[in-house]
Amino acid sequence: MRIDLHTHTTASDGKLEPIELCQRAASRGVEFLSITDHDTCAAYRELGTEVRVPVQLIPGIEFSSYWQNTGIHILGLNIELQSEALNRAIDYQQKARAARAEQIAVRLEAHGIENSLAAVRKIAGNTYIGRPHFAQHLVNIGKVKNINAAFRKFLGPGKPGDIRRNWAPMPQVIDWIRQAGGTAVLAHPAKYGLTWTKTGALLDAFCNAGGHGMEVISGQQQAELTERLARLSLDKGLLASSGSDFHQPTEGWREVGRATELPSDCRPVWEQWNLE
Ligand code: AMP
Ligand code: MN
Ligand code: MN
Ligand code: MN
Repeated sequence: MRIDLHTHTTASDGKLEPIELCQRAASRGVEFLSITDHDTCAAYRELGTEVRVPVQLIPGIEFSSYWQNTGIHILGLNIELQSEALNRAIDYQQKARAARAEQIAVRLEAHGIENSLAAVRKIAGNTYIGRPHFAQHLVNIGKVKNINAAFRKFLGPGKPGDIRRNWAPMPQVIDWIRQAGGTAVLAHPAKYGLTWTKTGALLDAFCNAGGHGMEVISGQQQAELTERLARLSLDKGLLASSGSDFHQPTEGWREVGRATELPSDCRPVWEQWNLE
């Protein structure tokens, strides 16, 4: 079974329209796809019911959150899109995102980057504004050479544009996902710049707050990392998830459908969903 439980579209910071993503996934042999845009389920609304979608969709979302001083991402998988709790949650996070964009712009001013918000709004093209849009602006005005440098100098962990506490805290996000009947999965645990000891503590807190699983596979990754994450999921009694984190066709290491297989001793999140 080919399954990809972590992808993005133009509804957040991805480059393909929802239908284009579904077509690309299908052509690459994906049977079950979760579109997990940042803090929004708008892609599912766009796809509607009348379009013939060439894959089986598992409704999902990637919530922004934080734990202690670290910004984290939590996937809500197999959620009920009609859930009132979910829609209240999305509303909360969208307001947080809009407020954060204003705060980032103010902080950038202190670094001689003026009036970024208007330019960023233009780049974003809709109401969703993310740090990648700020990164693009910084490249456009020649402040940095590329997107990566924009994150390294201005937007990444510990930098002026890294504002975490606007988001709902981890227990709140897990609670929203549970209320929407979904499976709460800690996204890419190895990508928060934490030591393994700290990562273990994060996973303990995630379990205690009612989280169900963690991503053991995020795109293409080294066998050693897969081993380590698989062992952690077993130690903590967490289900294992797998996804590409696809954003755009130019990034081969996280192409849709291109995820290393889960080790056989893991308990896949989808086992409890009765997929056919
Ligand atoms: P936001 O949801 O607005 O906080 O933006 C976070 C997004 O920025 C992530 O989901 C990634 O898509 C992107 N991102 C984070 N770090 C980097 C980086 N170093 N280079 C490029 N994109 C990044
Ligand atoms: Mn992203
Ligand atoms: Mn993420
Ligand atoms: Mn993602």
